[in-house]
Amino acid sequence: MGNGNICVMKAILISTGDELTCGRTVDTNSAWLAGKLLAAGIQTVSHQTVGDDAAEIASSIRAATERAKIVLVSGGLGPTPDDLTREALADVLGAKLVLDEECLARLEEFFRRRGRQMVSSNKIQAMIPEGASPIDNEIGTAPGLMARFGESLVICMPGPPAEMHAMFESSVIDLLPASQSAVAVKVLRVFGLGESNLSATLRDILTDRQGNVIVSTTVSGGLISVTITATGDSASSASALADRMAVELTRRLGPVIIGTGDETPASVVAKLLVSRRETLSLAESCTGGMVGAMITSLSGASGYFLGSAVCYANTAKRDILGVPQEMLDDCGAVSEPVAREMARCARDRFGSDWAISLTGVAGPDGGTSDKPVGLVFIGLVGANTNKVFRHVFGSSREQVRLRAAMTALNHLRVALLEGDSITV
Ligand code: ATP
Ligand code: MG
Repeated sequence: MGNGNICVMKAILISTGDELTCGRTVDTNSAWLAGKLLAAGIQTVSHQTVGDDAAEIASSIRAATERAKIVLVSGGLGPTPDDLTREALADVLGAKLVLDEECLARLEEFFRRRGRQMVSSNKIQAMIPEGASPIDNEIGTAPGLMARFGESLVICMPGPPAEMHAMFESSVIDLLPASQSAVAVKVLRVFGLGESNLSATLRDILTDRQGNVIVSTTVSGGLISVTITATGDSASSASALADRMAVELTRRLGPVIIGTGDETPASVVAKLLVSRRETLSLAESCTGGMVGAMITSLSGASGYFLGSAVCYANTAKRDILGVPQEMLDDCGAVSEPVAREMARCARDRFGSDWAISLTGVAGPDGGTSDKPVGLVFIGLVGANTNKVFRHVFGSSREQVRLRAAMTALNHLRVALLEGDSITV
């Protein structure tokens, strides 16, 4: 997020724990917190991970306060000797740890209510650095800690994600200084364009990191997410800026934008079929049911999805779908006529409005010079539609299958948007 001419409040997140630095546990706290802070108009400029070492944690906190007004630390507030955040904060503040009677009473009450004996090591959790204040922990034992150091606010929260989330939502969010800026985030989903082509089309926009609108791209699950992060002095001005950029991106990218947020070809197809009250069936060979899985992973699929015939062997294509043996012999299973016939048969057998078929060489073996690995024919049949698309997808077996499945749904999406037209 560039600063442009709007002053954005900055935060640094510090996660502590040897299990994080060793890679045994993935730091999900920072990702969660960064999202929450962004929604509150606060920009996270750095995520840091530090082992269970009081001096390291203290020096990270000190350094962070020189660069950010808000420093959020998670982990190391428990009762065991490797929980050292309390000591580290005391060191930063140049203060002693003192027993907080109110925290002790709360801790004792926590154990009494659960009918458990409080062991003496737990008492450490009621020790607070002088000058810091405790933050109530509604679901665990360790209170959080809040202190001012220099110009910054330092807040320490427990490591277990559920405890940290609860403390952040119920207390910490209200302790943060009100941001003078608001941030709006909008995501456009792109399918059918490589990331390097997209980067070339948007180069000037993607390289401008200084303005009030930052655009970035990420690839996941075969889709590109183009994220617009806009900063304004109010929620409405930030949102208007993001919308303006979305219009410009749509103008440049056009039909490869399939939707917004977390939409996928499957979810867009679902919406379109429901609104048209139409149904879909599938005949899958090389994807082995992947398209059906994508569709049925969305709730409400029974409203438009009739089923998928996974027909891998030629005999299954012949006996279950009804593809003629001569066609399989003459053209081969991976061919345009067989794809067309598979879709036609599926539509017929299931009695659906639409049918998609997929037949291809997923690899890594089985490719020939005229039918290379990655060759996939996708059939699409509707009341007035009868099309076969030929693709060659690169890379691994799983990539070929994933690309084929998503591309098939995308062809249906385009057909549904264009209207049911005859094209051969
Ligand atoms: P406890 O009282 O449970 O010891 P704590 O505040 O001392 O709480 P840690 O000991 O640092 O917290 O972490 C406890 C557990 O919480 C870790 O073993 C890990 O499973 C989880 N955890 C801690 N930090 C993170 C993080 N940044 N991301 C994901 N999980 C985390
Ligand atoms: Mg611990």
